[in-house]
Formats: sequence, C-alpha cells, structure tokens
Amino acid sequence: MKYISEFRDKRVASALASALATEVDPGRDYSLMEFCGGHTHAIFRYGVQDLLPPNVHLVHGPGCPVCVLPIGRLDMAVALADNPDTILCSYGDMLRVPGSRKRSLLKSRAQGRDIRMVYSCAEAIGIAQDNPDKEVVFFAIGFETTTPPTAVAIRQAEQLGLRNFSVFCNHVLTPSAIQSILDSPDVRKLGTVRVDGFIGPSHVSTIIGSRPYDFFAQEYQRPVVIAGFEPLDVLQAVRMLVRQLNEGRAEVENQFTRGVTHHGNLKAQALVAEVFELRRSFEWRGLGVVPYSGLRIKKKYAAFDAEARFPLVQQPAHENKACECGAILRGVKKPTDCRIFGNVCTPRNPIGSCMVSSEGACAAYYKYRRHGTPDDITQATDEIGATDAAAGG
Ligand code: SF4
Repeated sequence: MKYISEFRDKRVASALASALATEVDPGRDYSLMEFCGGHTHAIFRYGVQDLLPPNVHLVHGPGCPVCVLPIGRLDMAVALADNPDTILCSYGDMLRVPGSRKRSLLKSRAQGRDIRMVYSCAEAIGIAQDNPDKEVVFFAIGFETTTPPTAVAIRQAEQLGLRNFSVFCNHVLTPSAIQSILDSPDVRKLGTVRVDGFIGPSHVSTIIGSRPYDFFAQEYQRPVVIAGFEPLDVLQAVRMLVRQLNEGRAEVENQFTRGVTHHGNLKAQALVAEVFELRRSFEWRGLGVVPYSGLRIKKKYAAFDAEARFPLVQQPAHENKACECGAILRGVKKPTDCRIFGNVCTPRNPIGSCMVSSEGACAAYYKYRRHGTPDDITQATDEIGATDAAAGG
C-alpha cells in the first residue's frame, strides 16, 4: 500500500475484522495493551474496538508524554518561568496541564510570565538568538521520538555559542515503562490488570528499533507487535497478537515494516548517546518512581542543562483527589470510571493531564465516545469510510 487512505479502507477493515473473528478462540479472553496514546486515539477515532470480537479487550497504556509527567516536574517549569529574566518555551499541551496550587503555565502566562508555545526545540533556539538579554529554557518532554531533536538543538546551541539557551529535560524511555507495568503489583500480584501482549509504538520504534522489546517477549513471555497508527495497522497488529497467543508464542513482530527496523535509527541513537545519559530513576505519573526510565543531559553539555544552571528542586506534589489519571495510566481504570469525567473535567476545564493531551485517554473518550458507543460493525466501518472520504481516499 502506498497512500495513507489505503490504511483506512473500509472494505479492507471489514475483511480483516471478519478474518480476525474466525481466528479468535471464543473460549478465552485476550487483553492487549496499546502502550501509546496515539494508538488509543486511533482506536477511538476509527471505532477499532467495535470491529473486534467481544473477548478481545484493548487496555490503554501510559504512552502519553504529557500525561506521564508528574506534577512535581511541571511545578519546576512553572517556578522557572517565575524568573522575570526567563522565557520558557513549551509544547502547547503542557501549557494547560494543572500543576500544584491550581497553577498552570497558561495561568502563569496570563499573570505576565513570558511563556511561549513552540512546535519544536529549534524554535526555542531562534527565540534565544532573538533575545540575548533573556534566559531561554526549552521545557523538553517526550519519549524516544522527540529526544533526538532535543539533542540536535543542544548541539546546535553549542555550535552557535549560545549562552542564554538551556533545556529542562524530561525525556523518558518506553521499554522501562513497559517493564514497570509488567513488574507492577496490578499485573503480577493483584491481577487487576491483565496484559497478554503489547501493541508497540511505531514512531518510538523508528528510533530504537524492535530490538529493545525482545527482552519482554523472552523474559515475561508477552508478545509485542509494533504497529502503525492507522486503523488497518492496529487491526492487523491485533490479529498478529491473537495468532501468537493462540500458538503459544511470545515474540516481537513488526507490523510497521514501512518504517521500523530491528536496529532502528543508529545515527539518532548515537546522537542521543552523545548528549544524554540515563537517570538512576525518574518519577512517572501513575507508575511512580521507575528505575533508569528517564534521561538527563551529560555533564559536558551542562551549560545547556537548566537543572544544572538554575536552582531547581522537585517538591512533593499531590494529585487532585478526584482525578484517576494515575490508575488510568496503569491500565487499572478507564476514563469513565472517574466520577468527574465529562461533567467537571472536560477538555475546556481539564482537571488532570489525561484530559489535556491530544494523546490522553480521557480526551479520546470525551472526543469520540461521550455520546454513546457504536456497537455494531456497520457503524464502525462507516466511520472509517467517512474518514476515507474526508481524506480523499
Ligand atoms: S476525567 Fe479528568 S479528573 Fe478524571 S481521570 Fe481523566 S483527567 Fe483525571
């Protein structure tokens, strides 16, 4: 297939769903975790769950970079922006996430702080060049996909001799989070979350390759299928996982062969290794403190490390008591289990990060399902067909 519309084809989706239905064992359940929020949104947008047999369950994972950032780290960014000599640059979603004491970067900006929304780290470099009398800090978040561009920006800042640019680094690692889920009491002891296999993120895997997932398949006996973000990608990945489970296999398979290789992008990996090193531990919203799950800037680039340049301390912070983001990120609860979902907490008035982010599970539920669930295949495939038409497919 060549064009994106082909990955949204209604007839192929129906055929794939029918084939899957014949392969699923009616005598068992299949619980498959889609790690990435991008998959969660694709699943809801195209009604993928409704194309699956009722005993194939999709569990939403923690792969949303905005959602997993703990409030304490956001509070540090808010504190950074309090300095009148600082321009804080951030991706748009982060601006609206509520921090401690009902503060957010958006509210701080309304109170006069210089906080700018950027689409890339490179934009922050330009802002630093244009404002030599200000300290420009880029609030870096994200998984392995966004880490190489941050490394490029730091190298570029060094080459340009920029003295007023730094990065507040919050980059995190996918494999560590998957391991944390598999080691969690919810999965191992309590049985509150069942994960038979993983739909792995394709964008992350274009960088790290499929190799890092071999460990989970072998050590935890959980199959992983790396999948793209179109509805046919997800359907095919589910079918591949179902086949593995039926055959008692636990292997890493690559559905996204159009972008992912076993070893990944070696050049990007080398760049990341040049600029960043592992933190001993990093706190995640929902998962708690996860060993070796985050990156920090190496000492040789300390001049561009906001945590080395400014007196920043992460203080204990508390979630809003009503917010279930933590449990949702662990796959223990669904957004609709939160009693303020859709009434108090909405995208216009988000109480937790999962309602803010374009990859958050609560935002996906609100956007695509709050008025009810299409529960027959016709309705779901019609939705795919309508999207086809809109995409010119
Ligand atoms: S609906 Fe809002 S308050 Fe509830 S879990 Fe989601 S983000 Fe948190």
